[in-house]
Amino acid sequence: MEQTAAPPVASAKTKLRTRFVTLLAGTMVVCVAGLSFIWEPRIVKVMSAAQIENLDSKIEILSDSLVPYLLQNQFGAIFETLDSTKARNPHWLEVTLKSVDGSQIYPLFSSPHVEMLDTISTHETISFEGKKLAVLSVDVDISNELGQIRGQVRALTILMSLFFFSSLLVLGILFERWVVRRVTLLAAAAKQMSLGNYDASIPGKSNDEIGVLTDSFQFMRVTIRENQEKLIASRDEAQHAAEAKSRFLAMMSHEIRTPLNGILPTAEILLESDLKDEQRHLLSTIRDSGNSLKTIINDILDVSKLEEGKFDLRNEPFSPTSLAKSITGVFESAAKQKGIKLRTNIQHDPKMELLGDEGRLRQVLSNLVGNAIKFTSAGYIKLEIRTTQQNSDCINVDISVSDTGIGISPKDIGTIFERFSQVDNRSNREYQGSGLGLAICKQLVSAMGGNLLVESEIGRGSKFHFSINLPWAKSSLDQVAEEDHLQFLQAATAHVLVVDDNRTNLKVAQIILASLGHTVCIAENGYEAIEILNNENVDLVLLDVNMPGIDGYETTQRIRAESTNNPKVKILGHSASAFKEDKDRCINAGMDGFVAKPLSKRELFQEIQRLFPQEGAKTIAHSPGKTSA
Ligand code: ADP
Repeated sequence: MEQTAAPPVASAKTKLRTRFVTLLAGTMVVCVAGLSFIWEPRIVKVMSAAQIENLDSKIEILSDSLVPYLLQNQFGAIFETLDSTKARNPHWLEVTLKSVDGSQIYPLFSSPHVEMLDTISTHETISFEGKKLAVLSVDVDISNELGQIRGQVRALTILMSLFFFSSLLVLGILFERWVVRRVTLLAAAAKQMSLGNYDASIPGKSNDEIGVLTDSFQFMRVTIRENQEKLIASRDEAQHAAEAKSRFLAMMSHEIRTPLNGILPTAEILLESDLKDEQRHLLSTIRDSGNSLKTIINDILDVSKLEEGKFDLRNEPFSPTSLAKSITGVFESAAKQKGIKLRTNIQHDPKMELLGDEGRLRQVLSNLVGNAIKFTSAGYIKLEIRTTQQNSDCINVDISVSDTGIGISPKDIGTIFERFSQVDNRSNREYQGSGLGLAICKQLVSAMGGNLLVESEIGRGSKFHFSINLPWAKSSLDQVAEEDHLQFLQAATAHVLVVDDNRTNLKVAQIILASLGHTVCIAENGYEAIEILNNENVDLVLLDVNMPGIDGYETTQRIRAESTNNPKVKILGHSASAFKEDKDRCINAGMDGFVAKPLSKRELFQEIQRLFPQEGAKTIAHSPGKTSA
């Protein structure tokens, strides 16, 4: 699965810290600016007002002390008082006493008035019993006091800045420790978790919000881990079940194929002998039924492979006419027994072959015709095949199987294509079935590009039909049969050692090989085979893979390891386990090819031809010292 990229943790951390520091620094700047530009002038104003008030009270006292001197016109005392006052208050720049009419009493000569920045002026009218005596004016330099105040405000600003700075530092450190570091640790743990590591360290326990977040994260991590473990366990279980199923299928395939090996090749050989028509017909039915069974085993195995995503459709020439004949041949006696007619309607040029998977079509049709017979007690079964040419290469094939049987109710029609689904009726109780047939047919037909459909009416019958497009194989079946016959005749003679622990299999192989014109010797196990190879000139070994003692693989390895006089002898593996893996295993063990059980004369012939192209085969057959007969 594609991994989603984890977010860049480091850059996120930097951003948060920067934002926090910027916010605090901004707050500090605003506070310092506020202190300097708003509070300093305000404090100066308030302090100035206090100075003025203080000065006013001093002047009032001075004015009161001057009243007696003014009443008695004691100017000397006035001068003395004011001089000493000035001397005591060096910041008093100007002290002026003027009479009510405006003439100056003190000082004698008025000095030019100097406007200074930090100066305050105040006037006090001196009265006695409601009569104005004089006006006293004082100019005071308060620059010193204001300087002190400003200095103090600046010191306060610096102190505040320091306070803010250190607070910022402490907060920054705490923020780093309490938030950034823990969040970063959590983010790293989350990233690790996404990579499958559930043990990355996370922040310790705490009662704050990050603690709650950590607890939730830990809970989530444990839950995900448990779920993942459960999923893995279920997957393993499913895998084991699938493996068990595959083993079971392989075993069943082996067990069913082994007895078939006694039936099919024997029937094939017998069919080549002189028989009465009736005998030939019966024997063909045995052979076709065997073939049908073999195909079904193969196809069920293939359908199970389909579930695993491995499924191949064969593309071989076949004749729909012969297929229909063969199917009716297989089911004729069953239909006869039930007293129903088995009809065919084939609208197809019998000489025209199509390219397709005949085996799977046979499986579908066998199933449909078999069902039709099973669920019909009177009337007829009809298999119809109609081909129409689509274009120069493609033929449309319409196939239907209809019956006059019990029919299927509308409620059941939707479920019959599901696996293990059977309609609960008397026929089903009478005839055992797996409920798998139609599901497999549906899958096979859809793999061929068609759609298996059904029309049915209770009590009147059913019609299963589908339509597929197949390419036209531009050759005729008769020609192929003729060619096959010729090829069999042209096969070169070889001396073949058949190795099998099953006597029936030995017999069957012997008969088929002899019918192909080869000489045969036999061995019942690997040790015997090696001994024969040391004493006889053998061209080919037909070697059973599953044998007690040393199996086929080990026997091959021993032969190839030059423990015999003929390490390069051709070896054909032979087994009822015919999965691709089984064939591959044979080749990997050093064999030259594989033929499945039940043994098919045609397959064996083709393999021998492949291993001994005609020229080479003749040479072998004519080499001196052979014990070939
Ligand atoms: P089974 O092996 O049980 O026959 P199938 O998948 O082939 O399984 O069929 C499923 C069910 O569909 C059958 O059990 C039967 O109830 C119903 N069915 C199939 N073909 C016919 C038919 N021609 N007529 C009536 N019922 C049918």
